[in-house]
Amino acid sequence: MTLFDSPDFQEHEGVHAFFDEKTGLKSIIAVHSTARGPAAGGCRMWPYVSAETALTDALRLSRAMSYKNAMADIALGGGKAVIIGDARTGKSPALFEAFGRAVDTLGGKYWTAEDVGVSPGDLASARTQTRYVAGLEGHAAASGDPSPVTAEGVFRGVRLCVERALGRDLTGVRVALQGVGHVGAYLAQKLHAAGAKLIITDVNEQALAQVARATGAQVVGTDAIFDVEADVFAPCALGGAISAQTLPRLKVKVIAGGANNQLADATVGQAVFDRGILYAPDYVINGGGIINVAGEIRALAADTAFDPAWVAGKLDRLAQTLGEVLDHSRADGRPSNLVADEMARARIAAARG
Ligand code: NAD
Repeated sequence: MTLFDSPDFQEHEGVHAFFDEKTGLKSIIAVHSTARGPAAGGCRMWPYVSAETALTDALRLSRAMSYKNAMADIALGGGKAVIIGDARTGKSPALFEAFGRAVDTLGGKYWTAEDVGVSPGDLASARTQTRYVAGLEGHAAASGDPSPVTAEGVFRGVRLCVERALGRDLTGVRVALQGVGHVGAYLAQKLHAAGAKLIITDVNEQALAQVARATGAQVVGTDAIFDVEADVFAPCALGGAISAQTLPRLKVKVIAGGANNQLADATVGQAVFDRGILYAPDYVINGGGIINVAGEIRALAADTAFDPAWVAGKLDRLAQTLGEVLDHSRADGRPSNLVADEMARARIAAARG
């Protein structure tokens, strides 16, 4: 199969491969769409087994960023960079400088940021070669850790879904929370403050104990989280939590959490809908983080300071958008993940004109 026949390539404006002889940098930057603004999405460093798997990852992730940015109603398109290599052993400032030069060749068509395997320090190296870098530290435009903003968006989304599905506020609502890392821990605090009862799990015992102490949460094993008596399941760990195997075990009425790619495959969304579970599409409910990054890009592009009020306004709008997705899903009798995809595509097409 050639690149042009690949279903993942569909609609991409450009795919750029870079090699730097001096540092050995091998990187792919996929630009899905610049219809709504410059493409933005993080850079992932991963020991891909082949260039093909790296390309597939870049293409899927860049399209996902287009959809996420469109639903977050920010003036950014979607793109993603991957660097082929082991983040534990293969990093150097020179490597990220070479990556920065690669980003710069696109002339602002693509803005990079953090993703798996890439730290603010790496981005600082890239930034010496190009201005198209977000996720900086110690800068007036810097947006800082996006996790609290992501968690606030997810918290509002959980509250909205509970109102819709259960007709009540969060007092006494039982939330099964999978993963108490950056986003999950902030979310746990907010849910606890709103009166929810938490059941939590994580592979990190220390993080688990800390959140349990702070919120009075009940702790269960990583597999047991799927079987607990709860009203809401909030995936905040890795992708693929909702699958043909785990879905039948869930007793909840709502699935709403911060993780990316919660549905293990395309068929699971329909199965969730058929079971009468209200699902907040992942890339809509977790858009707070990219809104925060967009605030930084906006400030960097205009050479101004980061504006938290702009971020707060977009976060309000995000909750409305989630409400619109759920409205359409109910009115049309169709899974919310498909409704969200359609809305995202329509927003991108409208910008394309
Ligand atoms: P994190 O690494 O800080 O937290 C993830 C947590 O999940 C960790 O504590 C980890 O130990 C735990 N975990 C891993 N495997 C597990 C398992 N099998 N069962 C239970 N727990 C497990 O990451 P994060 O920044 O909090 O992000 C969490 C999710 O949210 C990810 O899917 C991420 O892509 C997504 N997300 C994060 C942001 C953000 O602002 N950080 C924004 C959008 C989406």
